[in-house]
Amino acid sequence: MAAEADPATVRPARRARLQAVLVVAFLLVLPLPLSLTFGWFGLNPVQAERTSPVGSLAHELLSSFPDSQLVVEMASAPGTAPPPASVSLLWNRMNETLQKNSIRFVSESINVPPGNFTTDGLFSVEQGARQFWPSVGQMALFYLFVHGTYAGGSGILGLAYRGSSIAVFSDLISTTAGGGDPAPIESTVLVHEFGHEMGLVGLVGSAPNEDPAHPGHSTDPNDVMYYAVETTAVLGGLFGGPAPPTQFDAADLADLQTVRNTAIALELIPTIVLVLCWAAAGIAVVVYWAGRKMSRRGR
Ligand SMILES: [Zn+2]
Repeated sequence: MAAEADPATVRPARRARLQAVLVVAFLLVLPLPLSLTFGWFGLNPVQAERTSPVGSLAHELLSSFPDSQLVVEMASAPGTAPPPASVSLLWNRMNETLQKNSIRFVSESINVPPGNFTTDGLFSVEQGARQFWPSVGQMALFYLFVHGTYAGGSGILGLAYRGSSIAVFSDLISTTAGGGDPAPIESTVLVHEFGHEMGLVGLVGSAPNEDPAHPGHSTDPNDVMYYAVETTAVLGGLFGGPAPPTQFDAADLADLQTVRNTAIALELIPTIVLVLCWAAAGIAVVVYWAGRKMSRRGR
């Protein structure tokens, strides 16, 4: 009959080794479930987007590292697709501000009924439609074009509602154009929301041109980040010209440089946790070996 190992007879050295292996394995593996839960390192990108505030992905958007590519996905309900001239202008602004090796636009038609959308409602539509999420080496921006309005405020033409998610309320843009060409207003809205995703104005770091009365926006009426450009207030002849602004002003461009140089805490957390866990695993190994050496010497 084979003798069964009694826990009480397991030698202390073996038990200590087993404990050390378990502790080290736990510390090495711990970042994986955390990443799956919070969407770090491109794992579970939907969850990561859910918890990414506007501006929190500004570095990934602006820099060529770690994401050298950008995919701009545009999903539109029938009859809401943006005018080609507006898409082309947005592409120009992206090329002027982002340091990407490639920027690719993908357009698709989606079935979404008109509604009065909350940000959660928009995100739920997004989850059913979006194909490209931020991942390792590739940043992604999502524009959602819908019939309807924003529940958080009447007169809102467009809205950046997550770190890489933007909604555009196309009917309201047409109404605001008053029967004229909606393309100039749509261009302004597309560029304005893109600006928020880059951390403008003052969403990341501090910006001298931020309007205290309208946080996140510029004091300059000729700047695409002026607060009124994303609301129907654009109707009020605030700009004194034939078309609303589509340019980032000098202060914005200076802010973008600040954003490039400002560490964003949310971005750093995954790396800090990974380094701490693996460093702790290394320390546990060293402590175990040192303890073993001392106990051998003591015999
Ligand atoms: Zn805005």
